[in-house]
Amino acid sequence: MLDGKINEEKQTLTMCLIAMKKKKTSKTAPVNTYDVIVCGGGSAGLGAALAVAQQGLSTLLIEQFNFLGGTATASLNFGFVQTIGMNGPAFKKLYQRMQELGGVRKEYFDPETYKMAAQTMMLDAGVKLLFHTFMESAHVENGRIKGVYVVNKGGFQFLGAKMVIDATGDADVAFSAGVECKKGREHDGRMQALTLRPRIGGVADKGAKVDWKRINELLEEERKKGTVRIPPYVVGYLDAGGVGVRHERTFNLDMAAEIDATDPWQLTHAEIEARKRVWELLSFMRKNVPGWENAYLIDTGVLIGIRETRRIVGKYVLSRDDVMKGGKFKDGIARCSFWVDMHDPEIFQYPGGLGAYIKAVRLPEGEWYEIPYACLVPEKVEGLLVCGRCISSDREANGSVRIMPTCMNTGTAAGIGAAMALLGGVEPSLVNGVEVRKRVLEAGGDL
Ligand SMILES: Cc1cc2nc3c(=O)[nH]c(=O)nc-3n(C[C@H](O)[C@H](O)[C@H](O)COP(=O)(O)OP(=O)(O)OC[C@H]3O[C@@H](n4cnc5c(N)ncnc54)[C@H](O)[C@@H]3O)c2cc1C
Repeated sequence: MLDGKINEEKQTLTMCLIAMKKKKTSKTAPVNTYDVIVCGGGSAGLGAALAVAQQGLSTLLIEQFNFLGGTATASLNFGFVQTIGMNGPAFKKLYQRMQELGGVRKEYFDPETYKMAAQTMMLDAGVKLLFHTFMESAHVENGRIKGVYVVNKGGFQFLGAKMVIDATGDADVAFSAGVECKKGREHDGRMQALTLRPRIGGVADKGAKVDWKRINELLEEERKKGTVRIPPYVVGYLDAGGVGVRHERTFNLDMAAEIDATDPWQLTHAEIEARKRVWELLSFMRKNVPGWENAYLIDTGVLIGIRETRRIVGKYVLSRDDVMKGGKFKDGIARCSFWVDMHDPEIFQYPGGLGAYIKAVRLPEGEWYEIPYACLVPEKVEGLLVCGRCISSDREANGSVRIMPTCMNTGTAAGIGAAMALLGGVEPSLVNGVEVRKRVLEAGGDL
């Protein structure tokens, strides 16, 4: 995919970055120092920032977009996966605020409601927000993180912190600080498929009865002709129900595969191709599905939905076995019962299909596993904790821990751990995980 021209452009970009870094290190501008900087305002970042601010510490939350929620809002994933242990303190608060705003129906929420509820939750807790700001790299001295370099309309800036929490989903902070990270499958590095989710309006609520079996057959025919270019393994997986709070329709179909979303060129390619898929599907639905004749595209996520990128190597690596056997830990800080949800092509060739696969990777009814505090602590680099999708786990365990309520709960634990480290004058790696668990419970943790 990367031709000579792209490589040339990459080289130029690298040269520019080196030049800019030289410039920034010679800067003598006054440095703002916060107790804790949380990078990323998604599910995990919200949990973390709330927990830190509740300890009375100065907390800065840096976010590249102009709103909070991360994948929930930016990628329009407007439904919380239901899991045992989901009702952590941040989740409960957020959900209640969304109810007050009238934008939540069971597990489904309106993304704009989420943005407002999250923003109010942060400001009320005393979290300082910095939007439109990209965390470019970590500043590390003698193995300890001292802050982050950010890029925004103000130029390059250094923001100092006593502790940093990486809630970027992609482990951007940890990776740039030199923490070892894993990506993709062992044998080919391949990662889960990506999905650009559309919100579709204008679908008749009480249209003629839809024959989904027939629709899938037609879709398969179109796919063979090449008019709808979605991979064969998602044809049996059409999800176009009225799921939004406002009864919008959506598709949660795999739209771009073999992409490393931490490579901006590949990510751009994914966005371009996925947008084509959305329009192909929309015209297919208009033509073939009763009630969809006047369907229109309201919007798509401002960021394609990314299921998988980096996972840090931490003091403990949560494994598929831990998930499937319902592993419990003395320093367990969050619990989850979600199945190992992998959007790999092989899954759809599983004997018996997707249903059989899900059955095989689901925990027994009523069972759950715990995530130890040690999964949030990087193996190297002090002053740093990691939460959310990029915590220390093997690939398959990651397919389970990556759901929003669980990410938020690992955020809460990271916030509590960072505050304990700071107030106790120790590094996060020396904070007693059993004590973190206790504090999480005291804060209302669903353990
Ligand atoms: C298509 C799809 C469907 C899904 N469906 C569901 C579902 O139905 N229910 C469910 O519970 N889960 C679902 N998930 C999983 C879930 O949405 C994510 O795994 C989860 O939201 C990740 O949370 P996070 O806080 O770790 O990361 P994110 O939500 O990705 O948050 C990271 C935040 O950091 C910001 N950021 C990143 N890098 C930087 C940087 N360098 N500088 C500044 N800001 C930065 C981002 O803008 C973002 O706001 C789905 C995922 C996908 C992709």
